[in-house]
Order: sequence, then structure tokens, then C-alpha cells
Amino acid sequence: MPDVLPDLSSGAQQSHLLSMLSDSGARRVLRAPSPDLGIAEHLPFPFFAMVGQVEMRTALLLSVINPAVGGVLLIGPRGTGKTTCVRSLTDLLPYIEVSTCPEGCLPDDLDDGGDSAMCEECRRKLAAGEPISRLEPVKLVELPLNARLDDVVGGVNERIAIQQNRVRLELGILARADQNLLYIDEVNLLDDVIADAILDASAQGSYTVRRGAMSGTYRSRFVLIGSMNPEEGRLRPQIMDRFGLRVPVQGLVDRQERYEVYQRVRRYQLNRRRFLAEWAVFSASAREEVILARELLKETVLSEQAIEIGLALVQGLGIDSHRAEYAMFEAARAHAAADGRDVADLRDIRAVAPMALRQRRSQFMVDFFARQFDEDAAIFSQIDTLTSTAEKDAAEK
Ligand SMILES: [Zn+2]
Repeated sequence: MPDVLPDLSSGAQQSHLLSMLSDSGARRVLRAPSPDLGIAEHLPFPFFAMVGQVEMRTALLLSVINPAVGGVLLIGPRGTGKTTCVRSLTDLLPYIEVSTCPEGCLPDDLDDGGDSAMCEECRRKLAAGEPISRLEPVKLVELPLNARLDDVVGGVNERIAIQQNRVRLELGILARADQNLLYIDEVNLLDDVIADAILDASAQGSYTVRRGAMSGTYRSRFVLIGSMNPEEGRLRPQIMDRFGLRVPVQGLVDRQERYEVYQRVRRYQLNRRRFLAEWAVFSASAREEVILARELLKETVLSEQAIEIGLALVQGLGIDSHRAEYAMFEAARAHAAADGRDVADLRDIRAVAPMALRQRRSQFMVDFFARQFDEDAAIFSQIDTLTSTAEKDAAEK
């Protein structure tokens, strides 16, 4: 690791959002007042009631602020709060405009792509002044462990096919994940075919299903969140590379923090509603800040120094994948926006570089390119020898 980054983390200005993360250790216990701000029915554990695990929560928060970071992979043993933490994100998710059409048409499509960018039905509705979208909170869509390919990409609705003698394609999980978060627990145990379908959709933002003469193209722009226990099998390198940020998640080491986790989980289990009410004020203000950060992100740029040192860092570490700096720069912009700044600087690079760059370097590729270099050198040396022999022969004649 080249020592290029000055330590700016201490004394740095942090926004409410970021400082709430680092403050949620055991020593800041339940200072929240408890007005009832209206609680959703799902009742996941509150994001800010998680103790410690700052890097995991920062990575998840950044991916909510800026989906372009390309998702988060959480790597660690069972029981360390990975799934709880992912589910708790629903606490912070903003509202977005969601299409009511199976093909995912939105009013903006007309401006962006003209008539052909929208299905006939939606063009008719818009012309008649009917809505084709509604506001909905971003959702967390979980991929069930036993999902089949048809569940993921969608398939033929057999009930309609039999009853009405016509074929209709059903929306799959990928289409329902559009504009939402898609969570895959134990992503390393996922069937290869399903993993490939998900990664293709995630890379392209859409996918096409063909069944006989029928086909449908669905939007599928989602933030991919995966978790895995490395004891239970490795993840194919090409899947690993697709996750923008990777966070190793260990159990807490501080005894006081572990006891605080126990107490909070116990309170939550005893009475979820009351527990959530105690944390609602945090959740509400964090949701506000996420919305502000998402707005600010549109204008947030990287400083010259952040670009220069970021690129030098990737090169210095011998990382080939261009996704490395993409994830790092997008995460740095999100980190700055979360901190209320419109310029991402070295502080932000420093905060996000480990999560964006770790486990990117492949010894196999280092060796592969080294061997290629040797082979090329041998080829040129042969050419040189043959050329000089030919020249000598020519001179002697
Ligand atoms: Zn439509």
C-alpha cells in the first residue's frame, strides 16, 4: 500500500449523517427522545440502533445515496448483523417515482427518447391525462434462496395461459427490483445461471425475456447488495469484481458494545413498536439527509488532487479492473455529498478507498501479465536475431 494519503480523518468536518454513524457505539446510548413519528408496518431493526460496524453501514449508506457505486458485498461469518443491517436500510430509503406499467414507462421517457421510448398504452394514458407513475419508497427486494430462473427473470403466467388461452409474461424479481435495492444473502451459493442473469441485468440496466414468439424487455436498475460467509464457499472472481464496494464484517470486539447489542436486540424483540418509536427521530432526520445528499450529489465533483491520487493509488496497487476507480470515485462523491460538500477531496478518497479497492488485485492476473511480458520479450528477441542474421547474410553476398 503506497503511503500517499495524508491522514485527514481526524478533525474533519462531518455532517450529521456521517457523525450519527460513528456516534452509535455503546457510549452514546439511547439519547433519543421518543415521539411517535409514524412507523411502517415492516418494523425492521432501526439503522441507527445498530452498534458499531461503521464501515458496513457507511458502505450501505453511500450506495443508497449514489447507486452508481455499483453495490455492496458484505463478507463475514454468520451472526454478525449483515442481514439485519441490510434490512434496516429500509428505514432511510427515500421516495422515488415508480412506473405503474409492466414495461416500466415513466413520464420523462417522452422527453428523453420521444414516442418510441414509451409503450402504446402509456402514450394513450398520458394523452388522456391519466397518471402512469406514482411515488413510492425505495424498497428492499430480497432474492429467496431457492429462487428459480423463472422467478428471477419472469416467465409465462400459466394460470392465464390455461384459463384465457393466451400467453402473458409475468414480472420477475429483477423487474420488481427496478429502482430498488436487491439483496442476495449467501450470494456465493447462488446458481451460476441465476448469478449471470442478475449480473447482466445489473450491468445493462435492463433485460429481455423470450418465450416462444413473445418477448418483453424490462428495466432493471437496482443497487445490488450481497452477503456471504467465506467459510461456505468462494465467490467467482467475475462476480466479486461486479460489486463496487466490499466490506469484511467481523463480530464486535468491545465487550461493552457486545452487551449493548444484546440489550438493544432484547428491547427490540420485547416490543418492536416501542423500540422503533425510540429511534424514529433518528430515522426521520436521516431520511431527510439522504434526500438532501442525493440532490447535492448531482453537483458534487472530484477535486484535482482526489483524481490524481486516486488514480496513482489504483496503479500503485497493481489493480487492472477499471471498476476499481469507478467505484472509488463514485463512492467518494457520495461520501462528500453525505457530508454536505459539493467537492470530493482526499478525505473522501481516504474514507472509501479500502472498500472500493480491497480484493481487486488478482495474483493470477499479475502472474499472467508477467508471463505475457516474458513471452513478448522472447518474440522480439527472436525477431532481432533473425533480422540481424538476414542482414549479415545480405552483407556477405
Ligand atoms: Zn408503458
